[in-house]
Amino acid sequence: MNVEKLSKRLELVANAVPKDARVADIGSDHAYLPCYLALNEQITYAVAGEVVDGPFQSACLHVKEQGLEEKVFVRLADGLDAIEELDKIDTVTICGMGGDLISKILERGYIKGQLKTVNTLILQPNIGEQHVRKWLMAHQYKIIEEYIIEENKKIYEVIVATVSKDDIEYSLEQLQFGVFLPDRKETAFVQKWMLELDKYESVIKQLKQAKTDESEKILLFREKQRVIKEMLGNAHSK
Ligand code: SAM
Repeated sequence: MNVEKLSKRLELVANAVPKDARVADIGSDHAYLPCYLALNEQITYAVAGEVVDGPFQSACLHVKEQGLEEKVFVRLADGLDAIEELDKIDTVTICGMGGDLISKILERGYIKGQLKTVNTLILQPNIGEQHVRKWLMAHQYKIIEEYIIEENKKIYEVIVATVSKDDIEYSLEQLQFGVFLPDRKETAFVQKWMLELDKYESVIKQLKQAKTDESEKILLFREKQRVIKEMLGNAHSK
């Protein structure tokens, strides 16, 4: 991966960025995404925020190498503290972190008013997608698109949301599996949840071998499996 050729995962994120957006990429290790967007003239302005010095230096270097210092501003900052009011950021991307951390970053920024001008959120949690969907629902960001792909034997989801005037209500199943993904049942999606079923099966096997009575825990995992199987429907038996 480099500033000209993104990973498939970040390419999905890049494609979801609105034309001429003013983007803040938070956790912008290398600044690959904002540089790619700027080089392709997809955005007019970007902030690359990074909290750790090493990745921050690497982001600064890439921006300089590409001569993008007038368009991509690298800042050493925690979460949305990288955004200043004058930036007029309308799109935030947060990729490659756990869903729990992404939600915490959003919550802290929301409380500080750093999302006031932000209309679009493009989020790519590595795990814990339900935390992200829950946060979006609670803060009136409506999920308008979801993507799922497999890359280097890992499965990634990308969630795109925009500000909504209406209250948003997602079911427990939608929070867990997604708003659009369950209907589409793409290969990567089925793969992801079949793997999850297998994981639960191994846990149940271990619990059955335990010397203590683990029947309650076993029931709990069986219930989790039932929910997944019900959602997968026919795709489960294929
Ligand atoms: N976004 C890139 C991607 O998807 O390829 C980099 C992902 S990397 C695994 C996560 C990056 O987020 C790291 O460079 C880490 O230092 C940074 N990070 C973690 N917490 C952060 C925070 N609160 N604010 C800014 N950056 C953060």
